[in-house]
Amino acid sequence: MTIPIYEVGRAHATIAAELEAAALRVVRSGHYIGGPEVDAFEREFAAWCGASHCVGVANGLDALHLILRAYGIGAGDEVIVPSNTYVATWLAVSHAGATPVPVEPDEGSHNIDPGRIAAALTSRTRAVMAVHLYGRPAPVDAIRLAVGGRDIKVIEDAAQAHGATLGNRRAGALGDAAAFSFYPSKNLGALGDAGAVLTGDAELADRVRVLRNYGSRKRYENEVIGYNSRLDPLQAAMMRVKLPHVLGWNQQREALAARYLREMAGVPGLVLPEPGGAHWSHVWHQFVVRHPKRDALQSHLEAAGIGTLVHYPIPPHLSGAYASLGLDFPIAARLAREVLSLPIDPFLSEDEAGAVIAAVKSFR
Ligand SMILES: *Cc1c(COP(=O)(O)O)cnc(C)c1O
Repeated sequence: MTIPIYEVGRAHATIAAELEAAALRVVRSGHYIGGPEVDAFEREFAAWCGASHCVGVANGLDALHLILRAYGIGAGDEVIVPSNTYVATWLAVSHAGATPVPVEPDEGSHNIDPGRIAAALTSRTRAVMAVHLYGRPAPVDAIRLAVGGRDIKVIEDAAQAHGATLGNRRAGALGDAAAFSFYPSKNLGALGDAGAVLTGDAELADRVRVLRNYGSRKRYENEVIGYNSRLDPLQAAMMRVKLPHVLGWNQQREALAARYLREMAGVPGLVLPEPGGAHWSHVWHQFVVRHPKRDALQSHLEAAGIGTLVHYPIPPHLSGAYASLGLDFPIAARLAREVLSLPIDPFLSEDEAGAVIAAVKSFR
């Protein structure tokens, strides 16, 4: 038996006819940039998240970057980022010309530790990137308290958290603005690159709309130095088919995670992730365990035919992109040595899940 960490084809096989019909609809529509599929997806995804505005863009990194640009955040400004995140969160800040100011995570949640934010604030701080890592919502309310009464924007990096809830609100409606990625393996994935900005701020949405389209509202009138970062209508059509299934797929992930938590409890050395509670839900973009002998555990699982990945083996501050800054974030560095993502495909069979559990339990 070989068990992939994730195989998006399994979900697509269950809706193949609808995906193919939607693709054909776009081929025949004559609308290949913008148009009704993009407009409809933006409306449907905004409503699904409980946000007033959705602006489709080309990918998640652009969504983060365009939010910063639309807020006028750039050279001389600082943006607080988790030390423990996918590098895109930092890159968006760098692309805007601002400085990422990393803050270490809470080891239980893997998300930014709000208790460490106050010490990182300066007069130049303009925003905090609230990354919902692995599908667990960042503590947005505590982050807001930590920045005090200042005009510091809380920007969600919701790339891993489609459908996750904090209180009675969904990711995308928790911060001042939110960036989503629809990279194919995300909980809602396109069949290529895609992204979106969500916000309750009509002016911000308008600025992102202009920025994504060459800085232009009216053809050949360029108000600002914009970008080409538009959501592809073919991808919008694919996601319109997938969106109604995402909550069900998230529930399948949740059931698998619950079984893992139950049956892997007490394995020596293994630290399991915290399950969601009454106040928040986890959408299990990744099921991430920790183990002091992570590399050996990964090899053991590989020998048993079980695919795993490390999210992420090199934290941003130690990556080539930022290593020259000489930063030291020991918690992020330790997590990078100890974390391991197990298969969490919503279509993993009972037998496959059993094989993952048996292999983890047989590790010595
Ligand atoms: C996937 C991801 C992104 C980037 O998304 P792309 O669409 O690949 O640009 C940003 N942040 C996080 C946390 C992600 O997981």
